[in-house]
Amino acid sequence: MRHLALTGGIGSGKSTVAQFFADRGATIIDADAISRSLMEPGQQVLADVVATFGDHLLDEFGRLNRQALADIVFNDDDARHRLNALVHPAVREESKLQLKAAMEADPDNAVIIQDIPLLVETGQAEKFDGVIVVYTEMDTRLQRLVKARGMATDDARARIAAQATDEQRSAVADWLIDNSGSLENTEAQVAAVWEELRNPSTV
Ligand code: ATP
Repeated sequence: MRHLALTGGIGSGKSTVAQFFADRGATIIDADAISRSLMEPGQQVLADVVATFGDHLLDEFGRLNRQALADIVFNDDDARHRLNALVHPAVREESKLQLKAAMEADPDNAVIIQDIPLLVETGQAEKFDGVIVVYTEMDTRLQRLVKARGMATDDARARIAAQATDEQRSAVADWLIDNSGSLENTEAQVAAVWEELRNPSTV
């Protein structure tokens, strides 16, 4: 079993790279996806969030209005801390369950990749058997965030500036995947890393 972290700056291509690993048989543990699933109708975490911030956060079908929640916590540190205190422990718990299930399903060969955008910022690199960093040249990254995500250029720049730098992430990388080129090029790099992971003796 190998338990790896996957990280990269906003818009670098973490989800894209994670999908290429998943296609090859890796188990992906994605905290963003888990936190979205914990906010589905019927989930205790959603009930706790609504009890804390108000039921105007729900639409007529009982679904969370993400924008309304984002508006509340955007400029209010105290509200953001309260939200994180509700969501983060549940995300950690579910991540642990998924990790345990994947380990038990294939104790010898499982490759489990945990997608952690803020790995460097939260000082967690040491916890893993290895770290995969996704890197994309700054101009390309900005273009993708603006085009594909509809983000304003200034907003994208501000979010990038608020994170660790490419150099800081590269410093903890065991594997660096350059996603500045085509998807085919990136997939070929993933395939090479996958070969190493499946045949550690060739490293
Ligand atoms: P976030 O930090 O916001 O979670 P991310 O690091 O997971 O983002 P992706 O969602 O994988 O990044 O990629 C960002 C955007 O760029 C997406 O719209 C994706 O489709 C696009 N993209 C990723 N890689 C490439 C590529 N090699 N060529 C063209 N477009 C790409």
